[in-house]
Amino acid sequence: MASPTDQLTDEALRTLRRVFGYDTFRGNQREIIDQVIGGGDALVLMPTGGGKSLCYQIPALVRDGVGVVISPLIALMQDQVDALTTLGVRAGFLNSTQDLDARRRVESAFLAGELDLLYLAPEALRTGSTVALLDRGDIALFAIDEAHCVSQWGHDFRPDYLALSMLHERWPTVPRIALTATATSATRAEIASRLKLEDARHFVASFDRPNIQYRIVPKREPRKQLLDLLRTEHPGDAGIVYCLSRASVDKTAEFLTQNGIPALPYHAGLDAVTRATNQKRFLREDGLVMVATIAFGMGIDKPDVRFVAHLDLPKSVEGYYQETGRAGRDGLPSTAWLAYGLQDVVQQRKMIDSSEGDLAHRRGLAAHLDAMLALCETVQCRRVQLLAYFGERATPCGNCDTCLSPPESWDGTVAAQKLLSTVLRLHRERNQKFGAGQSIDILLGRKTDKVSQYGHDSLTVFGVGTELSEADWRAVVRQLLAQGLLAVEGDYGTLVLTESSRDVLSRQRQVTMRREPTRTASGSRTPTS
Ligand code: ADP
Ligand code: ZN
Repeated sequence: MASPTDQLTDEALRTLRRVFGYDTFRGNQREIIDQVIGGGDALVLMPTGGGKSLCYQIPALVRDGVGVVISPLIALMQDQVDALTTLGVRAGFLNSTQDLDARRRVESAFLAGELDLLYLAPEALRTGSTVALLDRGDIALFAIDEAHCVSQWGHDFRPDYLALSMLHERWPTVPRIALTATATSATRAEIASRLKLEDARHFVASFDRPNIQYRIVPKREPRKQLLDLLRTEHPGDAGIVYCLSRASVDKTAEFLTQNGIPALPYHAGLDAVTRATNQKRFLREDGLVMVATIAFGMGIDKPDVRFVAHLDLPKSVEGYYQETGRAGRDGLPSTAWLAYGLQDVVQQRKMIDSSEGDLAHRRGLAAHLDAMLALCETVQCRRVQLLAYFGERATPCGNCDTCLSPPESWDGTVAAQKLLSTVLRLHRERNQKFGAGQSIDILLGRKTDKVSQYGHDSLTVFGVGTELSEADWRAVVRQLLAQGLLAVEGDYGTLVLTESSRDVLSRQRQVTMRREPTRTASGSRTPTS
């Protein structure tokens, strides 16, 4: 005879078919759904597009009571509720954007047991009235969406998420399911401890997105490189271009539009109406390019985003993975393209040094940046390196730039010694610190005004590096930074030695470097006509 749990899980399959119109569960959806229906807690890590929503929607429909979903995506709640309503699911939301009438209606539906799902903004749980409301209703489960928002290291940190540990204290018998597309084991551990999900079963799906082609190219003229990429490989395609600053977003959107590529800007400096309009247009119209800061994208479900381009270095591998993950949700080939240069490193170090927070916090940020740099400068498969960061092992993918046109590696030990000893001499002999530009000018033997002014042409290293070009030297600096053999600090991005620099200077350590294969500016292998 079937046990009561079996019957319930069959109910899950029937619900999948009847309500959502799908035949079978995907990946580990089935196990997750069984766990929650059975009353257990779950921590779910699944890449974007993996199908997280069903993991709480189906248990909410199968179990008695209302499934309460905590989500930071207030702007998308209406859309989510509308989509569920068309499927015949009884859903509502409570957040600060709605008027009193709408709120009352949702509240009474909740109390009358006439809702299957109730979406709440995290801040709602800070108000006594919402907590009191929940106390009076029958709750099937709590789903905590975008659970990485509880992580103080991540760029999506929301202080209100910290208070969600109260769910367990107040409603100890209600199962909780936390979901995120952020994948490191550190983030996972942080979510579990902060949300008091120590006893939750963990469900970790593979984070590989095989249809996304990863490419990272040296930044020269980023907007032109981007244009080249879009014209040669993505004409008429929808995509997202991420920039660090609002000003750069505006400029880039304008530049693309002037060059015949329809583009819209999105950043926190635009008024709410413009932002909402641009977002809607991007979702509904074909072939639009959204140029945005990272304020854009969480929860955006547009299946046919064909490319995600970064004109500036993301702050962490997690950020990079999340942002690039918005490409190709439909499973079709898509491009993740990043242009990065030395200036990015200098700028980000500066931001870290001047950021609020204690030393531990700044160290955390610096470690994130270092991992991102290591991904940029790797000589191995990007996907292997990316998945390794998330604790997954993989074999070379054949669908990233290093697999498609392997960079040569070269013995950069002598170059590294020259560069490091320039930094050392400036410091030891002159008690000075400079940025990369000055050291490179010295190595190339250039008598610039600044070189003459400081008498740097009398250093023994002056002119000893003419075998490499300026671009080569910049690549050397980037790679030394990525390998932790050099560091930048301060407002001017001055170069300083690290503990490990000495090993290179004393010839105890060899340095292998990546030589960029000859490619077009956008990194495509088909030359522009
Ligand atoms: P996530 O929240 O993990 O990014 P979604 O829950 O939005 O992903 O699901 C991504 C897409 O996959 C949606 O269009 C959803 O309807 C679809 N989907 C989810 N589960 C299944 C399934 N078992 N069979 C077919 N399609 C599914
Ligand atoms: Zn690869």
